[in-house]
Amino acid sequence: MHFLVTNDDGLHSPALLQLRKQLLPFGRVTVIAPDRNQSAMSQALTLHRPLRIHPHGDDVYSVDGTPTDCVLIAFHGKLIDKPDFVVSGINHGPNMGEDVFYSGTVAAALEGVLQGVPAVAASLVTRKPTDFAEPAAMVGRIVRHVLERGVPEKMLLNVNFPFLPKAEMKGLQLTRLGSRVYQDTLVKKVDPRGRDYYWIGGEDPIWKPDPGTDFHALHDGYVSVTPMQLELTDHKAIAAMANWGLTLD
Ligand code: MN
Repeated sequence: MHFLVTNDDGLHSPALLQLRKQLLPFGRVTVIAPDRNQSAMSQALTLHRPLRIHPHGDDVYSVDGTPTDCVLIAFHGKLIDKPDFVVSGINHGPNMGEDVFYSGTVAAALEGVLQGVPAVAASLVTRKPTDFAEPAAMVGRIVRHVLERGVPEKMLLNVNFPFLPKAEMKGLQLTRLGSRVYQDTLVKKVDPRGRDYYWIGGEDPIWKPDPGTDFHALHDGYVSVTPMQLELTDHKAIAAMANWGLTLD
């Protein structure tokens, strides 16, 4: 079993080496990660400039590109043997609900699934400094279950860990993606030359506290595991729209 470990926080994240340590008992582990923070890059590809790869010791590489670039290099770069499993993270911050559409962490796992292997995206719900040791150990246990049971094709697991000592966690819940309550996330200011500028950010998002969601599980002190599928087609809508009479004219 050959694991690719990647992330969107960049090669400097201590989570990468913690994951490698936890996955080495299952096989070989190669780390290929962006050379800097690439959070919120989603599934972006670098198409208009070359990608440079730098080795950092045994089976560790950085790429001056996106998380998805890293996965593509792992599968098609003739740099390493093709991975059998992709583990992305552990992200320093949550990836819940609609976050998955923006997240580089989740996108790297999605790219692994697109390449035909099982994948896990893992995130720790805190911005505080941490060594990621405990959640990495739990990722190892989840990976063991995936290896034993198998997962359907075109499916990935999106895991979020509460920032709690394991003894204080309530357990693990299988969840669905929750929903954000959108607030003002664009800050408008004036630069020193008198021109307006905008900065995306603002407050941390608030979530609808619906039972069964990832956010609800985290709020109650559980680890959240959301099985996500790549099939985005709304099959019911195909049937429902059939009588619209949509034509070219
Ligand atoms: Mn990140």
